[in-house]
Amino acid sequence: MADAAARNDFIPLALPLLGDEEAEAASRTIRSGWVMQGPQVAAFEEEFAAFVGAGYARAVSSCTTALHLGLVAVGVVPGDEVITVSHSFVATANSVRYCGATPVFVDIEPGTYNIDPTLVERAITPRTRAILVVHQMGMPCDMAAIVPLARARGLAVVEDCACAVGSEILWDGRWERIGRPHGDVACFSFHPRKVITTGDGGMITTDREDWAELFRLLRLHGMSQSTAQRHGSPTVTFESYELFGFNYRMTDIQAAIGREQLKRLPGIVERRREIADRYRTLLADIPGLGLPVEPDWARSNWQSYCVRLPDGCDQRQVMQELLDQGIATRRGIMNSHREPVYRSQPWSCGAGPDGCDCAPGACTRLVESEQAQDRTIVLPIFPQMTDEQQDRVVDALRASCRCGS
Ligand SMILES: *Cc1c(COP(=O)(O)O)cnc(C)c1O
Repeated sequence: MADAAARNDFIPLALPLLGDEEAEAASRTIRSGWVMQGPQVAAFEEEFAAFVGAGYARAVSSCTTALHLGLVAVGVVPGDEVITVSHSFVATANSVRYCGATPVFVDIEPGTYNIDPTLVERAITPRTRAILVVHQMGMPCDMAAIVPLARARGLAVVEDCACAVGSEILWDGRWERIGRPHGDVACFSFHPRKVITTGDGGMITTDREDWAELFRLLRLHGMSQSTAQRHGSPTVTFESYELFGFNYRMTDIQAAIGREQLKRLPGIVERRREIADRYRTLLADIPGLGLPVEPDWARSNWQSYCVRLPDGCDQRQVMQELLDQGIATRRGIMNSHREPVYRSQPWSCGAGPDGCDCAPGACTRLVESEQAQDRTIVLPIFPQMTDEQQDRVVDALRASCRCGS
């Protein structure tokens, strides 16, 4: 088969913005002789916390490991339930299961693709410990509705901000960055498909000093002293193992890259917003095409630009027609409850641990989630995208959407 991405006019779905600064920073770190978690990680954490306005930030190996530690910190233990969405990357639900807890899936709102706050209250049971919200594709979810509800019920709020670095939310009349955090802990990803990257990597933010210390221990096997501390100590010291921990560290090479990426982030977000604005204008006249909704209390970083296809359009066919013209797209965000690894669980569709009577692949409780996966596609968006490239995407989509008329 011909490699579609090999054409020289190919438009990828996403493209990380990495340059000489990142290469130089990685090279400097390698030449320094210290490559594991050390001074670069510490500096990246401080700069990241300042950027989002959080008390503390702790770097880890991925957003998936950040979510695991976040759920551990808020006290999720085996037998608990965590209310979340199925309509997310599988790591969201998996992180709940790492704790031995059960994800209880609720449906999303069709315009923002985020958790529907009105469905959260109904999903609460005596076993509920936490709500794991996702700022999907960078669009902030309705924290003003969810946080007071959680506080009133004594539930923790963990934020999956994998895609949402640089996004903002109107909070008490002020624009604040996602990650302050507005819940209890917020978890970010630096996977190359996100807005800034360190190859792989993640960050947890919190305002609680005790949790910041807990994350420091848990990512390092529960070890009382870091390798860097022992390395620098003038006296012989022995470490101890205080807690059952993990190896979830970020390396100093990654952190050095991350610090350069963080400098670029405001410019990257500004450019992504320009591209999203231009999509909104150019796509407005395609009959039946649904554009993403940005509530007036939210400013997305536009990690992804997702459109709902007109009725009658076949998702796979539209995607193939665009690919034939050298344009990459993806279908809408996956639903964990539809995947074999979740489908086999009696509680998977969102009915909770007591079971489910829905037909496979046709969940009556997660209708909007399934529709979003089946009826939407994600269009190319990356800071280096030219107007000419964007015009090609719009023209190709317009031609392909005729199927609806
Ligand atoms: C990408 C993503 C993750 C996983 O992030 P990693 O850093 O790759 O572990 C988790 N949740 C959501 C919503 C994501 O998009």
